[in-house]
Amino acid sequence: MSQAAKTFLDKKHGIWVNGCWVNSSSGDFIDVIDPSTGDVISAISNASAEDLDSCVASARAAFENSAWRDMKPAVRASIINKFAELIEQNAEELAYLETLDGGKPISLSKSVDIPATAGAFRYYAGWADKIHGTTHNISMPGEYHTYTLLEPVGVVGLVIPWNFPLVMAAMKLGPALAAGCTCILKPAEDTSITALRLGELAKIAGFPDGVLNVITGYGQSIGAGIASHPGIDKVAFTGSTQTGKIIASAATGNLKKVTLELGGKAPNIILPDANLEKAIAGSAMGIFFNSGQVCTAASRLYVHDDVYDQVVEGIAEFSRNIKVGPGLDPEALLGPLISAKQQARVLNYIEKGREEGGEIVAGGNRIGDKGFFVSPTVIGNTTNDMTVVREEIFGPVLVAQRFSEIDEVVTMANDSDYGLSAVIWTNMLGEAHKLARRIRAGNISINAGSSADWDLPIGGFKQSGWGRENGLEGLMNYLDTKAVVTSLD
Ligand code: NAD
Repeated sequence: MSQAAKTFLDKKHGIWVNGCWVNSSSGDFIDVIDPSTGDVISAISNASAEDLDSCVASARAAFENSAWRDMKPAVRASIINKFAELIEQNAEELAYLETLDGGKPISLSKSVDIPATAGAFRYYAGWADKIHGTTHNISMPGEYHTYTLLEPVGVVGLVIPWNFPLVMAAMKLGPALAAGCTCILKPAEDTSITALRLGELAKIAGFPDGVLNVITGYGQSIGAGIASHPGIDKVAFTGSTQTGKIIASAATGNLKKVTLELGGKAPNIILPDANLEKAIAGSAMGIFFNSGQVCTAASRLYVHDDVYDQVVEGIAEFSRNIKVGPGLDPEALLGPLISAKQQARVLNYIEKGREEGGEIVAGGNRIGDKGFFVSPTVIGNTTNDMTVVREEIFGPVLVAQRFSEIDEVVTMANDSDYGLSAVIWTNMLGEAHKLARRIRAGNISINAGSSADWDLPIGGFKQSGWGRENGLEGLMNYLDTKAVVTSLD
């Protein structure tokens, strides 16, 4: 256990405003609970509307005084790179904080979350000095010098979920900071600890005060306050589709710009010729990774009739051998779900799947009486009209069904309100690419589990969101275009 993590958890946390800790005007706190044990391990502020106004004032002042947005891009890049370096230097502490706060296995926090977080800042530091407009040869009568400028959108509110707290923060902060915006980060109430630590590290990295503010509290108060606040120019949200709709509507007051990364229910299609060993392992981890709390989780399995029994039994066998355990267990591959509420929700879905005629092939139950564990679960013989196939469960639950024709599986895969991602397993590459074109989703993986990279756009078709994050498209969300026309006559 990291002593630094323990010391950080021992505090009752204020909010991070204008480069320092501030006590919430509410005087209220929210318990921080370790999902592996159910024990209270720390406290965060249940911030008030007044606190949010302070964060907005701090971010606005930092934007208007232009120390950040007009900083030479190479200097801005070096500060963002320094931030990445500090995350790496404090990796042990951050990994333990992430594991204790969110329950994910420590091996995963160390090998995925921390390197990916530092990687996001490095990636976007690389863009900071490559932001430029274009010149234009316009057709109006007369002679003109005409060009565009890309300017930061302004004060941005970043509202994120609990499944990858640091990674989700970096996914939004990276491009926002590279663009020269100033930020108010609102982490999920269940996982706010590492975001608060990021505030402190940002100060050491050299960001001017007010460029990064971190406010904690409930979605219905602080999240909703960010969405409707007239002093915020853009809201970037990752979370459920239901909340995304509320945010989009609340943002209309000042017509702030909105990007939404929402839920998913990814189809995972296995054709009969696929490398089944690879497809079985990839499909199992495609749903069980991070206990299924992944927006791109490959949660709807469609297997060709010829290999259905072999594949479903293979995934069930794989799931029975997965070590589920507390986050601090170095051998655990899966941890608990985030909260008692999420555990109850997932168990309720499993029960519903059973009631609606699904066959529990593996798992299906709570593990232990302490912490919020659910066994990796496979439900066979499902149909597209069942609740467990239609709704996002956000837990370690795979629903499986058969198909016999390609056209049939395309219809089944597209028969969903969601369109975030999809996975295809086959060695017939022509067929794979044809399928990739026919599936309505933002990210398609062929013979690989759901893939992610900072350079690769991610986002949803249909009700899985608005816009794309990552890569250049992710950066453009934080920039406004200005056209400048000068007469030369
Ligand atoms: P959630 O929508 O309940 O909460 C997400 C964030 O929104 C939290 O910070 C919460 O406090 C805040 N919030 C809640 N109600 C709000 C309101 N009325 N107004 C403003 N903010 C509010 O989602 P969750 O349960 O924390 O996360 C799981 C969901 O996130 C899943 O649907 C998952 O698919 C989605 N997700 C999507 C992506 C993606 O990239 N598309 C990535 C990760 C998670």
